[in-house]
Amino acid sequence: MVISKTASQSDVSVHSTFASRYVRASLPRFKMPENSIPKEAAYQIINDELMLDGNPRLNLASFVTTWMEPECDKLIMAAINKNYVDMDEYPVTTELQNRCVNMIAHLFNAPLGDGEAAVGVGTVGSSEAIMLAGLAFKRKWQNKMKELGKPYDKPNIVTGANVQVCWEKFARYFEVELKEVKLRDGYYVMDPEKAVEMVDENTICVAAILGSTLNGEFEDVKRLNELLLEKNKQTGWDTPIHVDAASGGFIAPFLYPELEWDFRLPLVKSINVSGHKYGLVYAGIGWVIWRNKQDLPDELVFHINYLGADQPTFTLNFSKGSSQVIAQYYQLIRLGHEGYQNVMENCQENAMVLKEGLEKTGKFNIVSKDTGVPLVAFSLKDNSRHNEFEVSEMLRRFGWIVPAYTMPPDAQHVTVLRVVIREDFSRTLAERLVLDIEKVLHELDILPAKVTAKLTANDENAHDVAVVKKTTREVQLEITAAWKKLVADRKRTNGVC
Ligand SMILES: *Cc1c(COP(=O)(O)O)cnc(C)c1O
Repeated sequence: MVISKTASQSDVSVHSTFASRYVRASLPRFKMPENSIPKEAAYQIINDELMLDGNPRLNLASFVTTWMEPECDKLIMAAINKNYVDMDEYPVTTELQNRCVNMIAHLFNAPLGDGEAAVGVGTVGSSEAIMLAGLAFKRKWQNKMKELGKPYDKPNIVTGANVQVCWEKFARYFEVELKEVKLRDGYYVMDPEKAVEMVDENTICVAAILGSTLNGEFEDVKRLNELLLEKNKQTGWDTPIHVDAASGGFIAPFLYPELEWDFRLPLVKSINVSGHKYGLVYAGIGWVIWRNKQDLPDELVFHINYLGADQPTFTLNFSKGSSQVIAQYYQLIRLGHEGYQNVMENCQENAMVLKEGLEKTGKFNIVSKDTGVPLVAFSLKDNSRHNEFEVSEMLRRFGWIVPAYTMPPDAQHVTVLRVVIREDFSRTLAERLVLDIEKVLHELDILPAKVTAKLTANDENAHDVAVVKKTTREVQLEITAAWKKLVADRKRTNGVC
């Protein structure tokens, strides 16, 4: 979080149980302490406080890698003091990034001649990659409009309403209008027909998502390419496509090699992928690849020479760590095509175990597709008494972090729970999660409907309105009684083991 908010403004000191062996005075929370403390105390204080963070391995909310092999951890630690931007000082690190760019470009079927170098760059993540790709499109479009003597002050970009927040950031930070294709019930990705309808002369690109953040579904890039080719032919425009393959870029080539979504399609001019998602590297790496040199306007590339020889750079930031680049290279050569395929197939199989387990409960609608990013998105068939947010909240008690969220317009009345299957999420964990979800459903069945949920519900439902009319006191008593019963029941079953 860039803008900090703290949990408790009143507690202005940080205390630590074990650190009292080393220091007696507590530390101010929001001001730099006057004096130094021993390194052991600093370590202990911070380590103790961090224990309250969730367990990353049980964080099913995130696509981002939470486990790597110890050999790679070693390489990461060994490079922790290398600044990536010092390319002349660390030429091997630069070479490794270039190898990664080329490997990924080939994976995405970039039309490269023999010995031709790919065009791309390592970034902090897909967000930075998308800013760079977006800027390249904007500049190319501006140059073209200038040449034609047409106004170039109202660029727009067409996406689905399901885009990740970084597209909204790009649009707002770089003053491009975001034209979103609305979703609808049962269809939660960008409809290519509607997207192409929205394209006009000021459209810098259409952004398609390979692996929607909301339900993992792949958008139909091939169809989009066909429709847009046709529209370009009719109008004389040359509106290009960007593919946001943040999560799907390392899935599709291994699970669905026949699926055409990448540079095999002529209008796809750039692709981003998060190395730290299914690229299997810890947080802090993304990639953007351009189809050709011509797709990256020269004037966006800076040449620096004060660190040594001339180095071209196109990034938003200057300094950053080298470890993630090295770790990406490790994964690419360690796993190879075979290894990535194994990992992705395993994730997909575990997603199916979870999906089938959830279907068997009879309580959920599955909102994700079998083809796509390995995740399971699901919503309650009946959420009149208890909703998905309550399920999410109660799963926390078992240590699971499963987010619940509402879909974007026009499907905002649909709430889903989402479990992302990563490499470190085993089949045993998938089965365990189903059991715990069943327990939560059972517990919710016993609990009375939540009063807050009912107060915000529509008035149409006469039964619900009757519940709302109970006094707060009555509801509290009812909830207390139900919890007491639940605890008593659990004690009884606990006695068995
Ligand atoms: C995760 C994600 C992003 C943002 O990527 P970061 O690597 O976290 O910056 C963008 N688009 C999609 C579709 C994503 O899933």
